[in-house]
Amino acid sequence: MATPALNSTVQSLVSEYGVFWQFWPQFEQTHGERRLVGFEVELIGSHTSDLNHVDPACPRCRNVRAVLLSIANLVPVDLALGVNSPACNIDSHSGEILCLPALGNRSAVWVSLYLSWSQSNGQSFETDLLTKVRTLLSKWGIHQR
Ligand SMILES: [Zn+2]
Repeated sequence: MATPALNSTVQSLVSEYGVFWQFWPQFEQTHGERRLVGFEVELIGSHTSDLNHVDPACPRCRNVRAVLLSIANLVPVDLALGVNSPACNIDSHSGEILCLPALGNRSAVWVSLYLSWSQSNGQSFETDLLTKVRTLLSKWGIHQR
């Protein structure tokens, strides 16, 4: 579990970098049936509102990415995933910059957290998991966009 001191550090960095998250369900097609096999949670943040800022080598962008990465690493720990826990994979998209129309084409960095499972654990499992992720992220002041 994250400590209160860690929580407040995360919260202040989240507000400094305007961190938010997006959610993408991952589907797999088998025997003509579409099945939910996981979620992708994208954590997105930016240190600048400068539209011309596109520098993959920028140290401040690297710092934002490091913060997002630590948050992504905290999620599975804090969810205390037990039996039937989904596999967690993290991709930090190192060296890449995202230009988001939703942010007025501001440049941002992002980290993807993939939660996936090989067998269906039922829809309530999936809904519960998403609710837990949402609750945890909102505790740190990270809201879904
Ligand atoms: Zn930068």
